[in-house]
Amino acid sequence: MVYKKIGPVEIMGDNGGRVPLSTSLIITGNEDSTLIDCGSGQKTFDYIQKNHKVNTIYLTHHHIDHVWGAQLFPNAEKLINKYDIEKIADYHELAKSEGLYAVYGKADIDKWIQDLKEKTYWDTVVEPKVLNVSKTHEYNQVIDLSGVDVMFIHAPGHTEGFCTPYILDYGILHVGDIDLTSFGPYYGDAESNIDQFIKSAKKTLDVDAKYFVTSHHKGIFLRDDYERELEKYLSIIERKEEKIKKLVKSGCLPKDLIHQEIFYYKSQSEHNLVRRKTEIVSIVKHLKRLIDHGERFTDYLEDFIRINNINEEYIEYSSFSDKHRC
Ligand SMILES: [Zn+2]
Repeated sequence: MVYKKIGPVEIMGDNGGRVPLSTSLIITGNEDSTLIDCGSGQKTFDYIQKNHKVNTIYLTHHHIDHVWGAQLFPNAEKLINKYDIEKIADYHELAKSEGLYAVYGKADIDKWIQDLKEKTYWDTVVEPKVLNVSKTHEYNQVIDLSGVDVMFIHAPGHTEGFCTPYILDYGILHVGDIDLTSFGPYYGDAESNIDQFIKSAKKTLDVDAKYFVTSHHKGIFLRDDYERELEKYLSIIERKEEKIKKLVKSGCLPKDLIHQEIFYYKSQSEHNLVRRKTEIVSIVKHLKRLIDHGERFTDYLEDFIRINNINEEYIEYSSFSDKHRC
């Protein structure tokens, strides 16, 4: 479960961090340890609890696969970025930011919240709301974590608050959900942004890191491999966009576009509330991007929004806009 140790940093996760788990990093100091991300699995948590004294947990963003285990460390102080502190404590804010409000009505949102309250990982009931995350961390400043310098580099796109922790002295950049998987970049939340994702991903190459640690099953890359794989990974965005463009131009009706398996196979998304939402939100983001790039798809997008009962007020989300405040 520990798959690499670099100086005082252990990189670990059950099953290689495969979804619904994720990779954690733990930094061991003289007196205590600091954990970065907390979704790595029961075996890893047992190992950590046996071998470390975790005083502090830093979470890279609010997605459940990165935070669910934090409740297993009741004595550790938890910190997250300023964009996510409210979402982590409020299901409705979470539902707005992830795009549920854009796609569904009250009954489905209530069901999603109920499912989240009852979600289990093995015997552990996971409820993000029980997380007592009371503090935020700064971006782009060197912070001392268990005696090691770390900088949380803001990398918006995947989510608005997403960041890539950089452990300076050991050349480790935790690129997290810039995860190099064959699914490609994830930008299916209302708060996600395709162009920002690309920009943030490219900026990871400006960091003078030797090791690039991804969150899921792809593991750790050295610079040359990371650079090559990143290019392939980002090209998936353009491939999907090209597919949408061709479908629209060849007469695919707006009502049929969500059944074209652009992100998920039909069997994966048909009866899955969250995947169906992700398919719809991601398509809207591509259609808007295509319009920005000069395609005359405005009427098509309007039809797509109407046919799928999308609430336009919630299709984009930003924590610090007044739009979503009561
Ligand atoms: Zn994520």
